[in-house]
Amino acid sequence: MVNHHFGDHPGSVSSESWNLAVTRESALAEAQDFFDHRLDQFGLTQDAMIAGQISMNHSMLSAYINVGLLHPLELAREAEHRYLTGVARLSSVEGYIRQLIGWREFVWRTYQRMMPEYRTRNTLNAHTPLPEFFWSTDTDMFCVKEGLTHVQERAYAHHILRLMILGNFCLLAGIEPIETNDWFWAMFIDGYDWVMVPNVIGLVLHADGGYVGTKPYAASANYINKMSNYCKKCRYNPKLTVGADACPFNSLYWDFLSRNFKTFQKNQRMQIIFRPVSTLEK
Ligand SMILES: Cc1cc2nc3c(=O)[nH]c(=O)nc-3n(C[C@H](O)[C@H](O)[C@H](O)COP(=O)(O)OP(=O)(O)OC[C@H]3O[C@@H](n4cnc5c(N)ncnc54)[C@H](O)[C@@H]3O)c2cc1C
Ligand code: SF4
Repeated sequence: MVNHHFGDHPGSVSSESWNLAVTRESALAEAQDFFDHRLDQFGLTQDAMIAGQISMNHSMLSAYINVGLLHPLELAREAEHRYLTGVARLSSVEGYIRQLIGWREFVWRTYQRMMPEYRTRNTLNAHTPLPEFFWSTDTDMFCVKEGLTHVQERAYAHHILRLMILGNFCLLAGIEPIETNDWFWAMFIDGYDWVMVPNVIGLVLHADGGYVGTKPYAASANYINKMSNYCKKCRYNPKLTVGADACPFNSLYWDFLSRNFKTFQKNQRMQIIFRPVSTLEK
């Protein structure tokens, strides 16, 4: 029915890609699978990206929590239990619980306190329209295509793909915050306004003036090359900043720093990046 009525909309509902739990019982089975097979490795790989790996060792449970099929506290208790019984290492359990009841509750309180004005913030004056390839996935940038393809097929991409690839691109390119927010909101199965807005407007785009994060998560190809195997598969060269083969993330990164120099010049956490420029200015 969905294919019939909405066949030309972005996203896929083929039986290979649509394997989401829709009952409490099957959501519990998904949680069990995470605790049995991925929790122990969660901390070791949570910031890494490998081509073709959709979950890495992430839990992929956010949609079930948000819709009420699973309770965050029962998951935190189960993770704790896995540590106490020697099944999962402390660093992984700590990392998982910190996301689940640290970040999740923090963004909830941010939304409660700051809305509705927060949604309209655009402190970096970003006004570029969202590129068409966010809907079609038609781009040569391997890392971006990888993230977009995961989202098209599964309505999911793990946190680092959201933050450091798709979000980072939008931050550097100066994409209009509310348009970015609405794309994420439309495409992700776990998309809820209260969790999307602080993550996109705050964490990713720094459009809130630094309420959620004390510095923007801006990164060049150097970071992406270090944290993934994407660049090896890409037609661009992560080490080049100019020329036809140069990775677009590099010129976008320097352009972002240059056009926001005045805003971040005094930010203590960005001194390492700006110090050489400030010295030159003197
Ligand atoms: C641009 C962007 C948009 C996002 N939009 C959403 C959204 O609409 N809905 C949503 O639930 N999460 C959102 N997140 C947060 C986070 O990326 C997802 O919760 C996580 O990727 C879900 O996958 P997982 O269950 O495998 O998480 P795991 O990596 O296994 O983490 C465990 C749990 O911690 C919670 N969590 C982790 N990070 C965050 C965070 N930053 N904010 C809130 N909860 C967090 C989630 O409940 C998640 O299930 C967004 C992050 C970014 C950068
Ligand atoms: S070279 Fe650039 S565009 Fe290609 S995968 Fe690496 S960071 Fe992404």
